[in-house]
Amino acid sequence: MFHAHCSSWIELSSSAFEQNISSYRSILASKTLFGCVLKGNAYGHGLEECLQIVHNHVDILFFINPIDALNVRRQESLHRWPSKRIVVIGAMSAKEAIMCALEDIELAVTHENWENILSEALQDEVFEKSDKKLKLHIHVDSGLGREGFTLENLSQKVIFLKDKKKLFIQGIMTHFANTEDVTEQTYGEFQINNLATANDIIVSTLGLTYMPERHAAQSAASLIMPDCSFEIARIGISLYGLWPSRETKISTKIVRGQTTQLTPVLAWRCKSQCIKQIHEGSYIGYGCTFRAPKHMTIAVLPVGYFDGYPRLFSHKAFVLVQGKRCSVLGRVMMNHIVVDISDIKNPGQEITATLIGSDGQESISVETCASWAETINYEIVCRLGSHIKRVIVP
Ligand SMILES: *Cc1c(COP(=O)(O)O)cnc(C)c1O
Repeated sequence: MFHAHCSSWIELSSSAFEQNISSYRSILASKTLFGCVLKGNAYGHGLEECLQIVHNHVDILFFINPIDALNVRRQESLHRWPSKRIVVIGAMSAKEAIMCALEDIELAVTHENWENILSEALQDEVFEKSDKKLKLHIHVDSGLGREGFTLENLSQKVIFLKDKKKLFIQGIMTHFANTEDVTEQTYGEFQINNLATANDIIVSTLGLTYMPERHAAQSAASLIMPDCSFEIARIGISLYGLWPSRETKISTKIVRGQTTQLTPVLAWRCKSQCIKQIHEGSYIGYGCTFRAPKHMTIAVLPVGYFDGYPRLFSHKAFVLVQGKRCSVLGRVMMNHIVVDISDIKNPGQEITATLIGSDGQESISVETCASWAETINYEIVCRLGSHIKRVIVP
C-alpha cells in the first residue's frame, strides 16, 4: 500500500488506551472479565493497530462481524500472541458459524431463525469430526427491541438448543436501551430483572447443570449500575477514552462520588496541500458560500467528507494550527477543506493542522465535532475512513 504524502493521519495513544483500561479495571468487580468491543473497525480507530495495543490487556474481544474475528486469529498466529477469547455478537451464516467454531470463536444466538442456521452448521463434516463445539451466548431482548429472544414463550423459543452434544451454552447476554440517555436507571433495572427471569427460564428449559456467564453492561452501565457487570463487561466507547454521553458523566459522579478518568486515544492531523493569499471579495469553495471580507491567508487541507470529515462541519468547524483555532471557510468538500490561517505567524510553505485532538493549550474533542455534525461521538469516530494511515504513539 502506498500512502500519499499529502494525506492525513490518525495518531493512537497507547498510554491513553492503557489508562482507560485500568480506569475500568479499577471499578469492575475483580471476578468480572474485561471484554473490549472492537466492532466497526475498532470504533473507527483502526482494528489492526488497536488490537496490537489492547490484546495483552483485556480478557475477551467482542466483534459484530465474524470476518474480523477470524482475522484476529490470523493476527494472533502471525505475531505468536496467545489466543484470546473472542465473541461475535452480530449476524452470521451457517458457514461462518462453523469457521468460527473451528477457531474457538464464540457466537451469539439471537433469534428463532438460529434453529435453521445451527441445523445447517451441525451438518458440516469437518466440524462433526473435530473435537470443537459451537460455544453460544444466548442473546435476550430485555427491552432494547433489537436482536435477541423476547421473554414471551421463551422456553419454547430456545428448546431447539437442548441436548445437542456439539453445542455448549457459554453465556446469556442482553444489551441496555437507554442507560446513556437518562440519569436514573429505572428502565435499566427493568431490563436487568428481565435478564434474571430469562436466565432462570433458559437454565431450567435446557436443563443446564452450571450457570452460564451473564453479561449486560456496556461502558455506561459498567460505570453507573455497579451491580450489573456480572461475569463479563463489554466495554466499547470508553476504551477509546470517550464518554458514552454527558448524562453518563454526571451519573458517574453521582453514583461513584467522583468521575472516572478517561483519556481520548485518537488525534487526527494533516499537513496542508497548499497555502495562499486571497484578496478581499474572493470566494471559497462550492456554492461560493464564503466571500473573503478582507485580504486573507488560507490553507487548503487534503481532507474532506470522503475521509469522514462531515459536510455538516461547513461554516462551523475550526482546526488547530500552532495551538490556534483556524476557521473552516465555506463548504467541506469531498477531499478538501479550506481554513483561515491569517493569524498564524510565519506559516512558511506548509502547516500541520489538527482536526481532532490537542495542539498546545487548545483541543478539539470528538464531542465538539459531534455537536457540529448534530450527531454523537460514536458516529464521528466510526466514520473515519479506514484508508487513513494510523500511527501508534506513546
Ligand atoms: C456496541 C455494543 C457494546 C458496547 O457499547 P458501548 O456503549 O460502546 O460501550 C456492548 N454490547 C453490545 C451488544 C453492543 O452492540
